[in-house]
Amino acid sequence: MKAFDLQYLIRDNVKGLQPYSSARDEYVSDGSEMVFLDANENPFENGVNRYPDPQQRSLKAILAEQKNVQTSNILLGNGSDEVLDLLFRAFCEPQKDNVITLPPTYGMYKVLCGINHIENREVLLTPDFQPNWEGIQEKSDGNSKLLFLCSPNNPTGNSIDANIITKILKEFKGLVVIDEAYIDFSPEASWVSRLAEFPNLVVTQTLSKAYGMAGIRLGICYASTAIIGVLNKIKPPYNVNELTQQRAISRVADHEKVLQEVAQIKRDRDQLMETLHKVPFVSQIYPTDANFVLAKVDDANLRYQQLLEKGIVVRNRTTQPLCEDTLRFTIGTPAENEKLTTALKTML
Ligand SMILES: *Cc1c(COP(=O)(O)O)cnc(C)c1O
Repeated sequence: MKAFDLQYLIRDNVKGLQPYSSARDEYVSDGSEMVFLDANENPFENGVNRYPDPQQRSLKAILAEQKNVQTSNILLGNGSDEVLDLLFRAFCEPQKDNVITLPPTYGMYKVLCGINHIENREVLLTPDFQPNWEGIQEKSDGNSKLLFLCSPNNPTGNSIDANIITKILKEFKGLVVIDEAYIDFSPEASWVSRLAEFPNLVVTQTLSKAYGMAGIRLGICYASTAIIGVLNKIKPPYNVNELTQQRAISRVADHEKVLQEVAQIKRDRDQLMETLHKVPFVSQIYPTDANFVLAKVDDANLRYQQLLEKGIVVRNRTTQPLCEDTLRFTIGTPAENEKLTTALKTML
């Protein structure tokens, strides 16, 4: 196996870049009272009249402590969507490089391929929704810069087998991006604790799901200091706004509350699965480590419409490979789940 070479993966134009140095980058507070006349801001206080910290130091400090990494292993973005886009822009040369994705999976990887003009080489998951390693080997070459593993996977809900992930991390020559958007609902350990072992490992997380903050847009990337350094060169200087930083800090600091909500959602998920077992038109319920359940029904388009008419919006995944006639149910509040349960029981 060829040794991992980060320099080889970086786009040529990015190698030479220096990050934009903002006013707030050049002056780092030592805590003493200062007069800020450096950034052309309006001086009258309203809570958001100053530019936000471009390096989000306070938020990263809490995350670093909770996840047992250094702040230099963290990059924050305007949702994981921005973090994923930065990975494309740092490592994938348009019309030349390619990425490996494993459908059925999160749709954003393909969208980002389109936006960045990068070839998307798809290797279907196996029927039990695990990576097909032989297929991945066949489709990858020296220009395969990124491979996306979503675990727990959206829309199937299962976790990717840790042995297969280890194999891919050891053998794949590009970066392996493990999207852990649903990790807080899973009994599996996060790969964040394995960063030191695998120089090509990138883990993304988000405050949009378990943390209940989809509206503030905060995505997190954990990787080696070297990889984070590359992403920092191309990120917009003020990509995480002040309100988001403040709200994220107070939520992340209240870890107990998040754990309680996650525990409730997991209990309600198990209950919904029991209900689904009793619904005559549901033929299969897939194992899930996430806050949603994928189920196979007799006619997904029909059942989707019937639920809509009862005021319930679920996700119809029937067009996804290996997901014919499946619906994806997100776990709601107990009252919402009750509505869904009642609706399912009365549908013919
Ligand atoms: C919901 C989701 C995200 C979240 O993206 P944000 O931009 O952080 O809201 C990321 N990855 C997967 C697989 C998801 O399902």
